[in-house]
Amino acid sequence: MATKNSESKEKSNKGKVVIVSGPSGVGKSTICKEVIKRLNNAHLSVSVTTRPKSENEVDGKDYWFITEEQFRKRINEGSLLEYAEVFGNLYGTPKDKTEEALRAGETIILEIDVQGAKQIKIRYPAAVMIFILPPTQKELAERMNLRGREDAKAAEERLNGASIEVAAAWQYYEHMVINDDLEQAVKEVVQIIK
Ligand code: 5GP
Repeated sequence: MATKNSESKEKSNKGKVVIVSGPSGVGKSTICKEVIKRLNNAHLSVSVTTRPKSENEVDGKDYWFITEEQFRKRINEGSLLEYAEVFGNLYGTPKDKTEEALRAGETIILEIDVQGAKQIKIRYPAAVMIFILPPTQKELAERMNLRGREDAKAAEERLNGASIEVAAAWQYYEHMVINDDLEQAVKEVVQIIK
């Protein structure tokens, strides 16, 4: 007979953790939003960040935008599943929402960087790891330009970071998906998760 402990462990393992990473501007958010619509019971985790909110973003939907002091408090109270510094700002995954979703047997998609993905994989070895690639580096630069969210210096920093992230991804990720055609990329991600 299962003990209470093993029962609750089973319950917490019912859901699925999916990590989606990729360089800035590759279209991760667009893909993830579309993937969620096509899966039953899948949710996108909303991270906390100290990055300033850009004009088109909504607090509590795209991110929870918090101060560095609030972020440090969350680290100290252990309420983040993982966190990392990315391009000078802190980003982290709230623990409560992910655990709740997993207990309810849902799929939770974490759109996080490679450093965070490594931390999650230690905690949830069954996590599915997907890395989204641009068709070419030139295309990525053009998409970032079009998005127009960063100034030239920040955009350059993110493009340089992309090469490092892609190199690391070859080593750690089980699945690489090229976002050349959005529909195709969404279909591939859905297939992998299923
Ligand atoms: P952006 O500022 O473009 O929204 O995100 C910058 C980078 O931070 C992206 O690679 C994104 O995947 C990553 N990121 C977003 N949320 C989290 C998080 O909660 N944890 C970690 N480790 N990275 C995150």
